[in-house]
Parts: sequence; C-alpha cells; structure tokens
Amino acid sequence: MSSPAAPRPKPWIDAIAPYVPGRSSSDSGIVSAKLSANENPLGTSPAAREAFAAAAATLGRYPDGSATALREAIAARFDLDPARVIYGTGSDEILHLAAGAFAGVGDEILFVRYGFSVYPIATRRVGATPVEAPDRDYATDVDALLACVTERTRVVFLANPNNPTGTFLPRDELLRLHGALPADCLFVIDQAYYEYVDAAEDDGGFDLARTAPNVLVTRTFSKIHGLAAERIGWGYGSAEVVTALHRIRAPFNVTTAGQAAAVAALADDGFVEASRAHNARLRTWLEAQIAGMGNAGLRTVPSKANFVLVLFEGKLTGERAFAGLMERGFITRWLPGQQLPHGLRITIGTEDEMQRLVAALREMVGSAL
Ligand SMILES: *Cc1c(COP(=O)(O)O)cnc(C)c1O
Repeated sequence: MSSPAAPRPKPWIDAIAPYVPGRSSSDSGIVSAKLSANENPLGTSPAAREAFAAAAATLGRYPDGSATALREAIAARFDLDPARVIYGTGSDEILHLAAGAFAGVGDEILFVRYGFSVYPIATRRVGATPVEAPDRDYATDVDALLACVTERTRVVFLANPNNPTGTFLPRDELLRLHGALPADCLFVIDQAYYEYVDAAEDDGGFDLARTAPNVLVTRTFSKIHGLAAERIGWGYGSAEVVTALHRIRAPFNVTTAGQAAAVAALADDGFVEASRAHNARLRTWLEAQIAGMGNAGLRTVPSKANFVLVLFEGKLTGERAFAGLMERGFITRWLPGQQLPHGLRITIGTEDEMQRLVAALREMVGSAL
C-alpha cells in the first residue's frame, strides 16, 4: 500500500511516456559515429564559438532577460518585427509554452502519427488529450489531419520538415491546412530543419505568421547552426500569441553565452551554406546507396532534413540493423516507441561516416539474405 501522505503526480503526468534521447554511447563502448540526434557533422561556426568563449567575462551577471540583441538579429535577418519574437531554452521550451498557454484539461492537441516525440509530452503535461492523425505513406495527410479537428482542438503541431520521417508539406498544402483550421486553433509550424530546405521550396510559414493571428513558427539553433549544447530556439507569431508565451516562460530562459553564440551563428552565412550543401550531397548519396541495395527490403522515406528514415521491410529487421550497426560503433535512432519498430533514423554525418555506414549496411544485408 502506498503511503497516504506521499505527494501524488497528477494522473496526466503519470500518463507521460518519457522522452527518449538519441543515445551517445554504444553497448560496446566503441563509438565510431554518433548519428542519433541530428547534430551538425561540421560542428559549429568558429564565430559562434568565439562569442561563446567571450561571454565568460560576464558569468556573474544574469543574462538579458529580453534577449534584445538576439531578437533584433533575428528580426533583421528574416524581416520580422523584433517585438513578436519569442525565445526559449531550445525550441522544445516554446512547444511546451504553446501547449501551456493555449490548452489544458478537456482540450485536444493534434499532430501526425509519426510526429515529433515532444508533442505528446507537451500535450499530456498540461492535461490535454493528444490526438494523432493517420499518415499517408509516412507523410503528412492534410485531409486526415482536418478530419481529426473537433471543437476541442486548441493546438495543431506540425514539424516541417517532419522528424522522424523527414517528409515535407509543400506550401499549397500547408496553406490549405491553415485555411481550413478553426480561427481559434493555434497552428504551430515547427521549422527545426527548415534551413536544410531549398529556398525555392518555402512553405510560407513566416508569411502566415506575419499576418494570421493563429500561427506560431518555431526555429532552433540546435540543428544547422550547431549549437545544440546551448539550448536556444525561437518563434514568431502574432503579438497576442507571443505575449501569452512570454507570461509563462522562465524569466532568464536563454543564457548569455547562448544568446551571443546565436547572434554570431546567425551572421555566419558561409557556415550555414556549407552545412546545407554537405547535407544535400550526402543525403542524396545515402538515399541512392540504399536504393541500390537491391531486393533486401530497405527503402528510405523521401527526406528534406538532415537525416533519413530507413525502413527495413525484408529479412534484415530494423531491430537487427540497429544492433548490428551498434556493434560496429554506429549509433542510430531505432524507433519502436514511435510505432516504427521497422525504422532507423540516421543522421547525415561526415563523408567518411556515411561511407563506413553504407559498407556496414551492405555487409549486414549480405549476411541476412
Ligand atoms: C530537434 C527538434 C526540435 C528542437 O530542438 P531544440 O534543441 O529544443 O531547439 C524541435 N522540433 C523538432 C521537430 C526537432 O527535431
């Protein structure tokens, strides 16, 4: 019998399945490539690292709680109003703020079946009910999402590109989805991987966030900018939405070093461009190599992000592929907890890592036949 005096978490907190981060160590202790957390294989902009180091001079002071320099740099870079920029301890915090400010017990939060695993946590944390829309061959199905909207739907989360599938919803479909959502439903467009998408394929997220009262676009410094350790994300929406988020964020939620590093990273177009080009080249190469593995039952879901979801539909199962790669020191992301026991999400690493990964996969496919 449990003690009657013990504090009891709310039932919706007990219902949370904890977030499973990408592993950073292998069973054997050998790590030849960490391809589990979608980090930038080129590291970090040298300018950002210098700015981070320089912040040591003011370690004794609280950070700028208004993140003024960061908001202004973001606004100048993307032609936005600095007063409508929200910033967070990673964009993860902003997702939690969105759920917390706009939903609670009795409300529903909607996202796609193979969506980002933080969405159900952010939903349950505030006592709301997660609703998952069916996919269309792993991609977002706008009609299926719309069919799940009820009068209780308060927030819709959509990652574009999506994680863990890498799929991308084009502009016309994104606008169609927004146009059919109720005006009182907050549409969060999570663009964590947006910098990997060609500029010509703009999904129109910022255009919507500039004008629509119910859209929040989120971005992160963790992925292409290579600042995952510093935990900095930001978002853009209407003054009303952003004001609500500011009310509930922690007062000093982004560090001084993080703000400085982010401002410097944003200005380093060369680093971002090199990262994008590296990723595009090796992602195309990896997809072609896997397609070339014949009838082994491997296929990739078309990706616009810095990772590829590989599906194992033949003799070599996702579980065995994960274990076999792990034995060889490759840490990938196996996703049984996300209804993808047949899927491995593999981050695009360095050229050498990708070549060795493909060689390892070939060997495993060969011995499974
Ligand atoms: C990585 C990721 C984020 C955010 O990461 P932070 O490090 O918290 O900024 C948000 N959304 C998706 C879909 C991601 O994959």
